[in-house]
Amino acid sequence: MPQPQNIIRDEILALSAYHVPDSRGLIKLDAMENPYHLPPELRQEIAQLTATTEINRYPDPAATGLKAQLRKAMDIPTDMDLMLGNGSDELIQIVAMAVAKPGAALLAVEPSFVMYRMIATFVGMRYVGVPLGADFKLDLDAVLQAIATHQPALIFLAYPNNPTGNLFDAEDVSRIIKAAPGLVVVDEAYHAFAGTSFMGRLHEFPNLLLMRTLSKIGLAGLRLGFLVGRAEWIGQLEKLRLPYNINVLTQAVAQTVLEHGDVLNAQAESIKVQRAVLLQALRGMGGITAFPSDANFILFRVGDANGVFAELKRRGVLIKNLNGGHPLLTNCLRVTVGTAEENEKFLQALSNSK
Ligand code: PMP
Repeated sequence: MPQPQNIIRDEILALSAYHVPDSRGLIKLDAMENPYHLPPELRQEIAQLTATTEINRYPDPAATGLKAQLRKAMDIPTDMDLMLGNGSDELIQIVAMAVAKPGAALLAVEPSFVMYRMIATFVGMRYVGVPLGADFKLDLDAVLQAIATHQPALIFLAYPNNPTGNLFDAEDVSRIIKAAPGLVVVDEAYHAFAGTSFMGRLHEFPNLLLMRTLSKIGLAGLRLGFLVGRAEWIGQLEKLRLPYNINVLTQAVAQTVLEHGDVLNAQAESIKVQRAVLLQALRGMGGITAFPSDANFILFRVGDANGVFAELKRRGVLIKNLNGGHPLLTNCLRVTVGTAEENEKFLQALSNSK
């Protein structure tokens, strides 16, 4: 009888699946979602649109209409190519698959988005994690040293970084891109809350790809990420994209919502305002170190993260417990910025949980 332990690769047997907790009935501040709904008129338009979408047909494999709208909404340079993913997770996987020659290395800083490491394992790449320095800044010397030693085929830098919330120094990022012997993906998942980008700098670096997602700005349920870069790279990566990875409803709805991009922009602005309120409140509480954020979440350290996390959950608020994930995250928790009411309830629960 074939047994999984004999058939499945050892590194997959050793993995724990990415854990998504049950959030039913809880105030959900764990996954960097936008807490706001779309205005009723736009929801009505979406309802009409979905009613007439031909779900009996395969989607447009080139997603022509959606791509044109994305180019407009996101200021994508006209001479750069654009590739869509079923979430940016899928794009991380596609890029990794493309470069995973035997022995090839994927480098990321730590702590950062855990999928970089997991996907390195999925595709059989060597993973090199370089710890961040003080205040979660890039340790440029350590990264350059690791690049020299491991010659990574692929580097991921989240800008701003998850789960720390900070933007790395742009000059440090440039130095890393220039020193890299392979591709560098600057992952701008949290761009809407940061106000700075490498989009306008793609021309400077022949080995740079820029990745974004619509998940954090209000469309997490649609699953849409995109990758921008030179045609010579995107043309190769496109070969690995499954033909119908962006379904008809995602194409239709995302295109329509992006036509009303001002709605999403206004929501992102509110989130930034709420972020400042939340940070100030956290900093006013005793026993908490709250780190600055350029994203839609705040990382903070408490005396006993496991205890506080469990007590918050018992009081109906779900955030993310990062304790144990990395030595730099000892006793750290991460809260997504919610609506003013949600944040208030979180703060109330937190002050009763410490
Ligand atoms: N990159 C970063 C830095 C993230 O934090 C996340 C989501 N947590 C993603 C990519 C993936 O986003 P999605 O697959 O929803 O596009």
